[in-house]
Amino acid sequence: MKIIVVGGGLSGLAASVFLSEKGYKVTLLEASPKLGGRAYTIFEPDSGLEFDNGQHLLMGCYKSTLRFLKLIGAESEIERLPLRVPFIKPDKGISYLRAIDEFYPLNLIDAITNFDAVNWKSRLRILALMLKIRIGENDRELNVSVSRWLKNNNQTDEAIENFWKVLCVGALNADPEKASASVFKNVIKRIFFSGKEGYKFILPRKNLRAMYIEKSKDFILAKGGRIFLSDRVLEFRIDGGLITKIVTANNVYDDFDMVVTALPAHALSKINFNGSLSSGIPSLEYSPILNIHLFLEDNPFTEKYYALLGTDYHWLFNHGKYLSITSSSAGKLIKKNNADLLSELYSNLELFFPIFNRKSVRSFRIIKEKRATFVPSGERLLNNTGITAKVENLFIGGDWTIPELPATIESAVQSAENVSLEIFNSTRVND
Ligand SMILES: Cc1cc2nc3c(=O)[nH]c(=O)nc-3n(C[C@H](O)[C@H](O)[C@H](O)COP(=O)(O)OP(=O)(O)OC[C@H]3O[C@@H](n4cnc5c(N)ncnc54)[C@H](O)[C@@H]3O)c2cc1C
Repeated sequence: MKIIVVGGGLSGLAASVFLSEKGYKVTLLEASPKLGGRAYTIFEPDSGLEFDNGQHLLMGCYKSTLRFLKLIGAESEIERLPLRVPFIKPDKGISYLRAIDEFYPLNLIDAITNFDAVNWKSRLRILALMLKIRIGENDRELNVSVSRWLKNNNQTDEAIENFWKVLCVGALNADPEKASASVFKNVIKRIFFSGKEGYKFILPRKNLRAMYIEKSKDFILAKGGRIFLSDRVLEFRIDGGLITKIVTANNVYDDFDMVVTALPAHALSKINFNGSLSSGIPSLEYSPILNIHLFLEDNPFTEKYYALLGTDYHWLFNHGKYLSITSSSAGKLIKKNNADLLSELYSNLELFFPIFNRKSVRSFRIIKEKRATFVPSGERLLNNTGITAKVENLFIGGDWTIPELPATIESAVQSAENVSLEIFNSTRVND
């Protein structure tokens, strides 16, 4: 069976890998000259610098992603870290959220009880809400924003600012005022209550190109698949309820049985479906991520990462040769010019880390990703069944297609795994 996968981001790469593994002949069509989509590595031949567009952190609860990494042989390229997150506040110093490895889930009680970035009252309130999440709760209560839900659940301002907001902005790339409580609760459940590996941070030992892209590409080609870059899909021609032709910038494809799209919703809505179908595709709001990479003469930082409290520069990841500072939900910041951003960042770093000296920065790169992820708000309409019901051989993946999750590598790969299973089950029945 021949399958065309449209879109070479992580969702399209994962779908191509899962399908190739099951013996389907895959042709992957990617509009841009590179694979990886929103997760890519920049190489500058002149300076020799190589860095990712932004830090891509995995969590132990990313089960589909871990299966994908195993399949492409990248399992040994990741480092699973115990829960030990340094939260920094200039006036308070470092507070750790850390858990011992034994006695899960009771170790989480210990972790929160000892989390002194917030006072005792706040810790008890956090624990009470964690318990409520663990037990499960009435879903009607969740049809609100994260901030409303936290208030409804008696969280103190301090607990919201120094704990819940860090989780919400970091994991959902959305402000608590906009993000859906239901999606947030699902994420918290997956992170803390899906087993003792779930809350571990997983850091790639290599960049995105070496971790995912090259290995996926090699896997697909080794299984007899084909990859065409700079070949944007423009139109699906539909006949008798099936896609029979795919018109791209360079070609017309008609030798396939099924089509998988692995595109963001805004890109899918630009494809012409014989003029009849684009109505089921939701119009989503997007949220930016700002990353500033600092290449240093000397690196005085000792931890692998830090959560910075009370600033718009949320995380610092220490890559040894360089630092990546990430600002999520960065709508306001990305409007600033680079000189202002840099000077603001330096002032912040000097305040948070007296060991930091701006003179030790050799060079910097500022990457603004305007449509990094969609905003997982309550209004998000995620009903794509209208499209697939009308077109029998079309399967839709991409990070936005799993209603209960935000836009992450995991939702991209999980959607690819779901689509591959759907195809496998449908063709097995037909056989
Ligand atoms: C800076 C940044 C940091 C992030 N950090 C994290 C993180 O720490 N952890 C995490 O889990 N997630 C993170 N994410 C989110 C994660 O990168 C995305 O959710 C995921 O990569 C989305 O993959 P996708 O395949 O669904 O979509 P995309 O990556 O958008 O891929 C879609 C592909 O389709 C192609 N395309 C578009 N139109 C067409 C067409 N007509 N024909 C053919 N091809 C087309 C595009 O060029 C693109 O390559 C981050 C994202 C960004 C931008």
